[in-house]
Amino acid sequence: MKTILITGGSGFLGSNLCIRLINEGNKIICVDNNYTGRMKNLSKIIDNPNFSFISHDVIHPLLIDSSINEIYHLACPASPPAYQGKAAVMTTKTCVYGAVNLLELAKVKKAKILLASTSEIYGDPLVHPQVESYRGNVNPIGIRACYDEGKRCAESLFFDYWREENIRIKVVRIFNTYGPNMDPKDGRVISNFICQALSGKDITIYGNGNQTRSFCYVDDLIDVMIYMMNSSDDFVGPINIGNPDEFTIKELAEKIIKKIGEGSKIVHCDLPQDDPIKRKPDISLANMQLGWSPQINLDEGLDKTIEYFKTILKTKD
Ligand code: NAD
Ligand code: UDP
Repeated sequence: MKTILITGGSGFLGSNLCIRLINEGNKIICVDNNYTGRMKNLSKIIDNPNFSFISHDVIHPLLIDSSINEIYHLACPASPPAYQGKAAVMTTKTCVYGAVNLLELAKVKKAKILLASTSEIYGDPLVHPQVESYRGNVNPIGIRACYDEGKRCAESLFFDYWREENIRIKVVRIFNTYGPNMDPKDGRVISNFICQALSGKDITIYGNGNQTRSFCYVDDLIDVMIYMMNSSDDFVGPINIGNPDEFTIKELAEKIIKKIGEGSKIVHCDLPQDDPIKRKPDISLANMQLGWSPQINLDEGLDKTIEYFKTILKTKD
């Protein structure tokens, strides 16, 4: 049995990871300050004797008594409305101080540590699809910079700890992912559109809807995060993980309206500053190194996600 520490474990991806890894027979220590995380995401495992929860802000150093074999470092708000505005400085601190604090813990515990980085490190990309060797096009003073530059600095810290301290690191760059345990209010496009359609409200497309994203279903993403953690120590990444099937936001809206019913109409709102025009991962490296490619297409994943939102929208928060 391994002891695995997961930061950001009550959030969308973190809770799916906690559930998967505890079901595979591991002991899980979940660390979160519940800024965007929700304890209800962990209701299936909260009473499991192999699960423990530590309420902690990763901006501050973390002391743990027990031994730890692996750390998945996910703590960080991921939705633009959650990381921008008044949360921007906190987001940069979470990315940067959080990385230092978790890397120091990995050093003390001699644990392997994986960073949940992001496609946002490519900014508004000028290379399409995005390959790991592309260095990106980020506006360093824009409203997304707290997240984009924060994660770029976190990657840099991971590689410096690897070079200077021989810490065993893994860096994954996650592209847009969706599925059960998303917060209906967190403002991302799939949760917004499904919740709007289920409640008969207008579907809010930002801009003309011609911008693209490539959406990965959560189960596929959790598979590859675990494959990456279990890969040989000399393969550190960075590695793109996501589903390369690319859709415009308008196509996504039309798909969701068709699945849920024709009650909602599309309205256009202002496009936020620095919103990337297109995004699609090149996943050849993940395929070659880990033998992974996503199995669940957007239609199948949306159906499962719509069922999830139907259930949770019935129960009041
Ligand atoms: P989420 O907001 O649902 O989860 C983030 C979790 O981190 C939450 O539980 C939140 O409370 C916690 N957190 C935030 N700041 C913290 C702090 N200072 N101390 C302790 N806990 C803190 O988002 P998610 O989609 O689950 O994203 C998880 C990770 O994956 C993030 O690091 C994000 O950057 C990365 N990622 C996600 C996506 C995606 O599409 N979901 C894409 C790229 C990268
Ligand atoms: N978006 C939209 N309507 C919404 C929410 C988002 O049109 O209600 C757009 C957003 O402008 C972006 C895309 O959908 O172009 C993906 O947004 P999300 O916040 O999910 O992820 P990110 O921009 O971080 O990739």
